[in-house]
Amino acid sequence: MADFEPLVIESAEGCWLTTTDGKRLFDGVSSLWCNVHGHRHPKIDAAVADQLKRVAHITTLGMSADVTDQLAEKLAEITPGELSHIFFSSDGSSSVEAAMKMAFQYWQQKTNPCPNKTKFLALGSAYHGDTTGSVSLGGIKYFHQLFAPILFEPVRGPIPCSYRLPDSVSSEDAANHYATEIESLLQQHHGSIAAIVMEPLVQGAAGMITHPVGLLKMIRDLCDRYDVLLICDEVAVGFGRTGKLFACEHESVVPDILCMGKGLTAGYLPMAATIARPHVYEAFLADIADSKQFFHGHTFGGNPLAAAAAIASIDLFETTDILQQVDAKATYLRDRLRPLADHPNVGDIRGRGLMVGIEMIADQSTREPFDSSMLIGKKICDAALDQGVWIRPLTDVIVAMPPLCSTESELDFLADAIIDSIEQVVPNEVCSSTLANQS
Ligand SMILES: *Cc1c(COP(=O)(O)O)cnc(C)c1O
Repeated sequence: MADFEPLVIESAEGCWLTTTDGKRLFDGVSSLWCNVHGHRHPKIDAAVADQLKRVAHITTLGMSADVTDQLAEKLAEITPGELSHIFFSSDGSSSVEAAMKMAFQYWQQKTNPCPNKTKFLALGSAYHGDTTGSVSLGGIKYFHQLFAPILFEPVRGPIPCSYRLPDSVSSEDAANHYATEIESLLQQHHGSIAAIVMEPLVQGAAGMITHPVGLLKMIRDLCDRYDVLLICDEVAVGFGRTGKLFACEHESVVPDILCMGKGLTAGYLPMAATIARPHVYEAFLADIADSKQFFHGHTFGGNPLAAAAAIASIDLFETTDILQQVDAKATYLRDRLRPLADHPNVGDIRGRGLMVGIEMIADQSTREPFDSSMLIGKKICDAALDQGVWIRPLTDVIVAMPPLCSTESELDFLADAIIDSIEQVVPNEVCSSTLANQS
């Protein structure tokens, strides 16, 4: 906190934030990866305002609101396959907690129970939230290491990174390579594993780590073969970020449980959801006296105002071509960032759809990162702020996550600010060894 400089927003419109001292900033991280249609979208504003005239909050413990029911039906319709039974919570971490407990309880009380299936397989550098259970799954040093004594141990899989492949592995073999590693873990541990939990396609908080194409499908097949549930955490990648409504659709995968958050209400209100397939639901279905229900509930789960925002957002996905435009906008942004590919300290420009990471490195040949005390990522984002763009780094990965509704000229503004800021902080002509020595 000693270095904290508050940046206070008074209002926002479209992709732009206005600070209390009147500065306009482009919202380059979609207000933490969740804004979709822009701020103050008239249709979403109206939906929330209308709902406010009816009821702001009731509980979904023992009752429900009409809008919440409508949203549940809508989510069952738009999510892949037969995903259809929904549990609402208020944030992405809680949606993952619910998924884990659901998967655990499923194996305890399904017909032919498997009571030993109590563990989870999580990927290297995973991020699934900041609550204790989701932190246990996580594998990012800063978020997890300190808390190790109060966490449970997952079975740890590889980091399925496409940029830092082992020397012996070509990019064509990458998906097979990582799938084989995961398979050998399953061979050893499947009897005790309830579920594999993973972010499909892109591990966001890990630094926009992009998985080799085909890996997700291979993991789905492994889950079927080894009798392990698949939990896909679509909190970051869901709701159009990667160019499809849900990232799983890219590989025609239907997880057993899918978690959503961030973009669910288009970034308007705190709401998350965990959606399960019928076979999971059926393990909980019994007479009340059998106590098979999911003993888990959140005070604000299914909140009607949030549900109204979510329905309005999904309606916009259905009535506009916002989703169909993501690929073209992503290509446009990539093309605009292309000059950075020649920068000696830009290691990789990656991502899927409008989810882009630019990794800064000290040395091209070794892919060595900068010394962390140099705060290269932070300095670049500070420089972007001076240019009117709000972005946040993940260590030395510069993240560009503009709202899906961004126009080409807004993407120009974002790309120019990123390029200029990188040039400013790590001038092209300075050779990498000099910079490394400065630390
Ligand atoms: C942000 C995020 C979470 C946690 O969501 P919160 O709403 O911050 O609790 C979980 N999983 C992934 C993949 C995320 O990106």
